[in-house]
Amino acid sequence: MRLEVKLALIGAISKLVIFLILFTLVQQTIDSLALEHTDRDLTKKKDKALSIIKKIGIRTYLDAEQDSVFASYNILKDEYITITLDPDGKPEELAFSQEARIIEGEEFDFRILNYNFLIGHQQYSLEIGKNIQMIYSLDRTLKKISISIILIVLVITILFDLGTYKYLLHPLNQMIIPKLKTVDNPESFDYTEIDSSTSDFVYLNTTINELMHKVNEILKNQRKFIGDVSHELFTPISVMQSKLDNLLVSGKLPAKTVGMIVDQQKQLIRLQHIIKALLLISRIENDQYSKNDKVDLHELVEEIVANIEERAHITNITLENRISKDTSLSNVNKYLIYILLFNLVSNAIKYNKAGGSVLVYDEQKESNLLVVVEDNGIGIAPENLDLIFNRFKRMETTKEEGQGLGLSIVSSIADFHDATIEVKSHPGEGSKFIICFPFNQTV
Ligand code: ADP
Repeated sequence: MRLEVKLALIGAISKLVIFLILFTLVQQTIDSLALEHTDRDLTKKKDKALSIIKKIGIRTYLDAEQDSVFASYNILKDEYITITLDPDGKPEELAFSQEARIIEGEEFDFRILNYNFLIGHQQYSLEIGKNIQMIYSLDRTLKKISISIILIVLVITILFDLGTYKYLLHPLNQMIIPKLKTVDNPESFDYTEIDSSTSDFVYLNTTINELMHKVNEILKNQRKFIGDVSHELFTPISVMQSKLDNLLVSGKLPAKTVGMIVDQQKQLIRLQHIIKALLLISRIENDQYSKNDKVDLHELVEEIVANIEERAHITNITLENRISKDTSLSNVNKYLIYILLFNLVSNAIKYNKAGGSVLVYDEQKESNLLVVVEDNGIGIAPENLDLIFNRFKRMETTKEEGQGLGLSIVSSIADFHDATIEVKSHPGEGSKFIICFPFNQTV
């Protein structure tokens, strides 16, 4: 979930809680105010009734037949008054209650005032009731209105908050995050400063830039170191090799010594291969190659097939160049593209089975060109697929000769040309190395 949505939701939840607390408080206050008001009204009516009774006497109100009861209610049945004889009641006691009363067969909720008073030696009970149905329905209407207002205000605040957070987080979403998406290559990292009035974002951006500068510097130094060391080692190894050659040519050595020298030479050749590979990777990574060539891919693969065919024949492996005749790559380095495809074809032969086959073909994918090297050899275990491009990484199951640098070179050359590599493989069934060249190299 995006940060602005999270912030807006948290804001909405906290507002909802505050609204609900306020709503409950307001509701309770309205209820108690309405009751207070009704009680005051009932008390006034009681005082008025008592003063009339004092003036004109109680007998006027008593029922002629029953001689004890007076009852009156208004036409809308929202108020009534009764006076009854009540010898057991406590005199002068004022009480309020809420009860239902049936008037002419209809039940109503009333707020009731009860008051006992003495006239002569008789004690009477005065009851005045006020219909509170009105208060209930007003209460319900108020509740409905309040909930609607709360919901509308809530939706408006969520939308407002979303807009505000989006605006405030704009530098993060539109400037810093897109930069971080290209963080895998410090060389092409976007080091521009961001234009924001939020100092935290400016600080974050500056810190990321500084960090990337440091990472870039470290990687540069590492590449330079590998290049320098490889270069320094190359000369003494070549000197040692020619000295060993001279010793062999002299022909005066015993057979045992000749065997030892040949072994040493093999080790030196292996070392030379490693140093050459490291030097090549270092030069590619230090951008020491141009990308101005146009390459006829079919022809290039033909060249590779011609150079490697002999090796394939030894294990009876068929090599097939199915690259279309008109397929070409532009803005590339021909020498490096040759090495890339040569290494892939060489591996496809090396890690194949006797009688297997290797196919090289091209495919168009949207505007990109795919070059595929496919074999039906030993395949690669899924857990090793991510490791094979690491330097000096060789699978434990691999018995063939090698230094574990062939695919590192392939990966550096692909990066250099902004191409991507995908590997599909099943152990025992074979492997497919798919190089995807971008649009600008296929026109
Ligand atoms: P090397 O071939 O010198 O060992 P690479 O970098 O070319 O080094 O390859 C690394 C590893 O990837 C190899 O040791 C091998 O296990 C595996 N590998 C590469 N290509 C293939 C392939 N076509 N089929 C099966 N395994 C392969």
